Formats: sequence, structure tokens, C-alpha cells
Amino acid sequence: MKKKIAVIGSTGSIGTQTLDVVMQHPEHFEIVGLSAGSNIELFVEQVNRFRPQKASIANKSLADQIRPQLPQGVELFYGEEGLVEVAAGTDAETVLTAIVGSAGLPATLAAISEGKNIALANKETLVTAGHLVTDLAKKKGVALLPVDSEHSAIFQCLNGENLEDVQQITLTASGGSFRDLTRDQLQHVTVEDALKHPNWSMGAKITIDSATMVNKGLEVIEANWLFGLGFEQIGVLLHPESIVHSFVEYRDGSVIAQLGSPDMRVPIQYALTYPQRWKSTTKRLSLAEVGKLHFREMDFERFPCLRLAFECGKIGGTAPTVYNAANEVAVARFLNQEISFLKIEQIIETALASHHVLDNPDLETIKEADRWARSLASTI
Ligand code: NAD
Ligand code: MG
Repeated sequence: MKKKIAVIGSTGSIGTQTLDVVMQHPEHFEIVGLSAGSNIELFVEQVNRFRPQKASIANKSLADQIRPQLPQGVELFYGEEGLVEVAAGTDAETVLTAIVGSAGLPATLAAISEGKNIALANKETLVTAGHLVTDLAKKKGVALLPVDSEHSAIFQCLNGENLEDVQQITLTASGGSFRDLTRDQLQHVTVEDALKHPNWSMGAKITIDSATMVNKGLEVIEANWLFGLGFEQIGVLLHPESIVHSFVEYRDGSVIAQLGSPDMRVPIQYALTYPQRWKSTTKRLSLAEVGKLHFREMDFERFPCLRLAFECGKIGGTAPTVYNAANEVAVARFLNQEISFLKIEQIIETALASHHVLDNPDLETIKEADRWARSLASTI
């Protein structure tokens, strides 16, 4: 029997690579739901190719535009409700969350409520409301399977082990497009420079997040929720080649790492096939060809956004929500050429410093903190 999958955010970097993986195993996968933002040309092509039960696009006017081009039998929705419909309203066994930002939260919660396993790329959702997502997943008995390469690596390194035996996990960081620039040099960088990531081709937002190291900050908080480890047990190491995807040190001194060519299709596929491993066409890793691997201690002064992530992760409550929301707005403003690169970190820091943290927030409190941070971040 084919495994039924819904993909939210199907036209982005992770979304299209997910559909690549599906096309490599057409006899094993069936796409039953697809949703996207505004890239309607690609979306129409995807819906015609995969013929899902349900499809959804960002808004009504885009929906009206594409309706005549869709095959019969596909139910078309739009907006936030449409996203929830695709995530939760089909008979998908697994929902791959490839949407960007905390906009993915309602759909992810709805999918979990319906008992669907989550192949999770959309890290902002876990950062913004980690306790709600993980508690609901536990209650519903559904799996949160990491797609992020670092978390997939840790997940694989933890396979068959006891969590009590873990000393420390280390997430590796490529350093992003500006890893070799000083803070002084960062004052004059452009959007175009920032979008040139050395190792990975990704969506614009995560590419900027890699350059500010917010991405690693989000990943630290993501790891805390996914693996139930304290922040003192989570480390970050700069590793420019992105070959060692992350590693776990055990209490007996053994270190288990997961390696591979930088190719997101591998962790995507593993999240969809777990606990099985299927063939893949990824470029095989030749360590002889790579020759040397490099590692450097993380510099928290050079990358203050990483320090802030550890700080607000430890504080918890609504602090990570504010960190994430302020960053989303700051990155959008930077991409829009409204603010400088270094202003991103200032906005996050100011938002956190002005926020009165609320502990153990419910969904409404999280939404309110998110709205508050977005409004502040758009004016400073
Ligand atoms: P992207 O910008 O390339 O794609 C985002 C997708 O979400 C697009 O299909 C877009 O149309 C859709 N979308 C955005 N807003 C929407 C809305 N309101 N409603 C419906 N659809 C909407 O982003 P990406 O690089 O694929 O990243 C997606 C997620 O995966 C992010 O959370 C990112 O942090 C995470 N991630 C990405 C990578 C990577 O290699 N790209 C690696 C690890 C984790
Ligand atoms: Mg990652």
C-alpha cells in the first residue's frame, strides 16, 4: 500500500525537494494534499502532476485564478483555513511541514489533532510553541520526525540509545554567507551578498537566518523540544563543509556522528520512510575526495543572535515566540531593503528586552505575543 502524504509549502526549497523524493519512489508514495503561497505557476503544475485530494493557495483571488487550470476531483481551498484543510482534512498518514515561519502553527496543530505524523521542516512552529506541539503530539501518539539536517542527524545518532546516556549533542553550523567577515565588514553587506549561501540552496528567509546565525539559534530551541535535552546539553560548532551534519557524545566518551553530502533530500526521505531506509540518488560521500574537514569554536560575540537564542530558550515561556516573530519581521524588512543586515539583531534584542515574558502560555497568549513582537519589530 502506498504511503499517503500531504505537503504544506510545496513550492519552496524543501517542498520541491520533497516532491523529488516522492517522484523517485512513485510506487510507494501518494500525494493527497498540497498547499503553497503565491507561486501559482509551479503550484498548478504540481497539482496536475500529483492530483491530490485537496489543494490550497494563499488567498481567494489566487484560488479563483488557478481553479480553471486544475484537474477535476481536486478540492481547492485558500488562506489559513485552506492550509488547515490540507494539513488535517485528508487521509494522509504524514504531513510534511515545509511552510516558512510560525504561519505553520495552526495547520501543524490541526494535523497532530487528527493523528497525523509530522515530518517537520518548519522549525519556527516548534520554536514559537514547542510545549503545545510536543504535548499534543504525545497525547495523540504521533511522531515528530525531523527534516532539518542537524536534527535528522541527532535523531539517527540517538537510534537505539538511552537518553540518560547522552552527555551532549552538538549541532554543526556552516556559518552562512558571511562566516568569514568581521562585524565591521557586516555593516555594508547587501541582500544579494546575504543570499549567497556557500553550501545549501534554500529559501530566502532561512538563507538570511543562516547568515545571522538565527537559524542555528532556532535549531538549538528546536533540538531542546525534539529531544527533551536541556540547553546545557546542546552545543554548536562551526563546520564550514557541512559534511558532519551533527553528533552525539555519550557518557562513556563515545561520539556518534552522522555524515553525508549536503543534500536535503536525504533527511527528507528518512523522515518519510523512518524506520526504514530506502535507496536514494544522492551524491555519495567520499571522504578521500573531501580530504579535510574543519571545525571552529562558535563565537557568541560575532554571532549575538545565537547567544540570544540560548538565553531566551532557557527563559522559555513567550520569549522564544518573541525571538522568532521579531526575526521574521526583521528578515522580511531586510529582504525588502528597508533595514541593514546588522539591524536584524538589534530588532530581536530590543523586542526581547521590551517583552514581559509569560510562562506556560496557551495558544491565545502565544498568538498575542507573536502579534505584539511583529508590531514592535515593524516600527523600530
Ligand atoms: P521557501 O521560502 O523556499 O518555501 C516556503 C514555502 O511555504 C513555499 O512553498 C511558499 O509558497 C509557502 N508559504 C509561505 N507562506 C505561506 C502561507 N502563508 N500559506 C501557505 N504557504 C505558504 O522555504 P524553505 O527554504 O523551503 O524552508 C521551509 C521551512 O523549512 C522553513 O521553516 C525552514 O527553516 C525549514 N528548513 C529549510 C531547509 C532548506 O534547505 N531549505 C533546511 C532545513 C529546514
Ligand atoms: Mg538545519
